[in-house]
Amino acid sequence: MPRKAVKEDKREMNHERENKKEKQGIKKKERRAGKKKKMERKKVVERKKVVVLGGGLSGLAAADRLMLSGHDVTIIEKSSRLGGLASSFVHDGREIPVHYHHIFSHDSLTLKFLRRFGLAENMVWKRNRMCILVKEKLCNFTNPLSLLGFRYLSLYARIRYGLFGAYVLFFLKPGNIDKRKDAKGWLYEKVGKEVTDKLFSYLQARNKFGIPLEDISARQFAHRLKAGEVIGRFGYPQDGLQLMIDRLEQTIVRRGCRIMKSSQIAEIDLKKKRISLLHDKKRKELDYDIVLNTIPLPEFLKLSAGLPKDYREQLSKIRYCPAVTVVFGAKKLLSDYYWFNLLEERIHVIMQHSWLFDGYKDKIMWALRYGNSAEDLVLKDDVIKKEYLSVVKRYFPGTEILWSRVFRERYASPIYDKYYHLHMPDYRSPVKGLYNAGVAVSYPKIRNMNSALESGIKAAQKIIEDIRKNA
Ligand SMILES: Cc1cc2nc3c(=O)[nH]c(=O)nc-3n(C[C@H](O)[C@H](O)[C@H](O)COP(=O)(O)OP(=O)(O)OC[C@H]3O[C@@H](n4cnc5c(N)ncnc54)[C@H](O)[C@@H]3O)c2cc1C
Repeated sequence: MPRKAVKEDKREMNHERENKKEKQGIKKKERRAGKKKKMERKKVVERKKVVVLGGGLSGLAAADRLMLSGHDVTIIEKSSRLGGLASSFVHDGREIPVHYHHIFSHDSLTLKFLRRFGLAENMVWKRNRMCILVKEKLCNFTNPLSLLGFRYLSLYARIRYGLFGAYVLFFLKPGNIDKRKDAKGWLYEKVGKEVTDKLFSYLQARNKFGIPLEDISARQFAHRLKAGEVIGRFGYPQDGLQLMIDRLEQTIVRRGCRIMKSSQIAEIDLKKKRISLLHDKKRKELDYDIVLNTIPLPEFLKLSAGLPKDYREQLSKIRYCPAVTVVFGAKKLLSDYYWFNLLEERIHVIMQHSWLFDGYKDKIMWALRYGNSAEDLVLKDDVIKKEYLSVVKRYFPGTEILWSRVFRERYASPIYDKYYHLHMPDYRSPVKGLYNAGVAVSYPKIRNMNSALESGIKAAQKIIEDIRKNA
């Protein structure tokens, strides 16, 4: 066995040993707590049939936690591969993320999972370099200082932006902002009209969600700024992100989790607690005690029967933003930046994976559109490629594109507008046995892999708690 594989096995064994110890510790405490507690423990180990809808990061993390508590877990996934939005595809024998994915240095949970599977030691880390493409020009946008040469804004606006950057860094307390305030009004006050209209209305509103700044809560907006979503060190595991997902899959399968990939759910009957689906070309029915939903809410609503009217209405208010991505291989990098924001163009972002991790034969990049890209979901691949890549070539003439692929996500992210908190679902639902996880429930945190993993673990903990309480 290669040394690396032995090391990984050891690491996983250590993790399992730690979990075993943790379990033994719990048992010891329970023994000490006497007869009554003993009775409770008997009830705790009662196995429940838990079905997890969706095998993205939140579903996998939930299954992982639930398996540790000894429950009978089945994951139903429509795709032939796990990982959802964070999954990869194979090109030329190498795994490439379907959508750009980097790890932030403060993503402690993602890093914990990577460490667990021996992938964290082999990470590449780089300080993000970002620019703006506007009016056929490239402007460095890596930090407020670099913005001094950004002639798209007046000198006054550039100075205000620089001062605003310092304010965000040292003084901003998002929790102190009035809940009712919208991002546009707040930004007008703090950084002025020009920066707001020329920059933020594109970067954080139109490009991100396809909504105006007035529809975003100032508090949520400030949280995003404070979290430093675009600054600092970004990382990528050299062995590929998909390996983390594959290893997680192997671990939970080894513990007895059943994973039904390429499944088509026909109905989730919440009253009978039964799921009808097509798997391996056969119709199947799964009875469950608990169902944990991690699939996009509009999909869930289409498939589920027996939801109370009020709850259905609440969930149907959650809107999603799509994403259409062209992944392409080029002969050379476009420029010395990882992240290109485009203003006033139909595509919003170009990201150079190979700037961060140069481990492929070609230079790998993504050109994508988020907000309002619903109109592109129906376009043919060739049309999308032609349009998106023509923007790349316009800004970087002479770019030699070697190949490209199109990926479409109808539900790339919930739209966190200023009303989101009013109808966002909780982990627990008003329906007995129904729970939620995924980035629909992790607001106001930034939607990313870390918050998805965290939501899966939190949902599993709540399920375990409720099983114990009701036993
Ligand atoms: C373009 C883009 C770039 C991103 N970049 C980053 C980044 O750089 N860093 C970062 O940390 N995060 C990034 N993210 C966010 C991150 O990918 C997500 O937050 C995270 O993967 C969400 O995980 P999830 O399990 O909640 O949802 P999903 O990944 O959406 O998982 C849901 C799963 O349910 C399955 N499913 C859907 N419908 C059904 C059905 N009817 N039946 C069965 N299964 C179904 C799906 O196939 C999927 O596997 C990015 C996201 C996008 C879209």
